[in-house]
Amino acid sequence: MRVLRRGRLSMEVELGDTRVTVLSDGETAMPVSHLRGPDGAPLPDGDLAGADVVGGKLRLPVRCFLVRGRDGCLMIDTGAANAWHPVLGRLPEAMVEAGVGAREVTVVALTHTHVDHLSGLVGPEGAAFPDAERVLVATEELLAFRAEPRMLPVLPRLVPLEQGDGLIAGVTAINAPGHSPGHMAFLVEGRLLIWGDLVHHAAVQFARPEVTWAFDEDQDRARATRLRLMAQAERDGWLVAGAHLPDPGIGWIARAGTGYAFVPVGSGG
Ligand SMILES: [Zn+2]
Repeated sequence: MRVLRRGRLSMEVELGDTRVTVLSDGETAMPVSHLRGPDGAPLPDGDLAGADVVGGKLRLPVRCFLVRGRDGCLMIDTGAANAWHPVLGRLPEAMVEAGVGAREVTVVALTHTHVDHLSGLVGPEGAAFPDAERVLVATEELLAFRAEPRMLPVLPRLVPLEQGDGLIAGVTAINAPGHSPGHMAFLVEGRLLIWGDLVHHAAVQFARPEVTWAFDEDQDRARATRLRLMAQAERDGWLVAGAHLPDPGIGWIARAGTGYAFVPVGSGG
């Protein structure tokens, strides 16, 4: 892995024949009570010592990932556009900074169909990535996608996504259910796991991966998936990247105490 360039809203790395660009959609904050203990109740204040809090709330960056491979250019998630918090929707700005044109994107895949991941697919003029012939969405979430009126312009491009599917050369889909029923992660070149919403607040959930998030639709399943994929990523030495991981959104996972630590790319780790 080699860092090719880093900007305020983007970072590009090289993995073999593939280049991955982390693109920021902006940063918002969520109530501290969204972190949940094993009993489903908000974490007590004493358990929040390491949390990354801004203005009394948990920092929540939102990111998308562009994978340029041998046979295509894949956008993973598309940010919140103007559909959620007004500070978000900066993906187009991040793409300009990174020198990525909207027409370069040949395939879009969603980790899941929540508002901060799908909304950027459609802009004021229709499809935000006009030359993306396929929009890949997990079979379990096709109904949710179709039910979203904003997605009307891209419905003809919708293609079901299943575990093991290849998206472009070097990128494979891996089931990661719990946060949502069809939540997917993507393994790039066998050594970078782009894991969507496996972790919402790294400052707490790396050290304590059993802690869940209020919007994990199935809390037990989300916890089991997080424990399984974090263990696998650590064991196999994978890089990890996530929609809500702290700057720069990509790094390694190291064992620390009874849990893990996030070691960001570029931190010397
Ligand atoms: Zn999310």
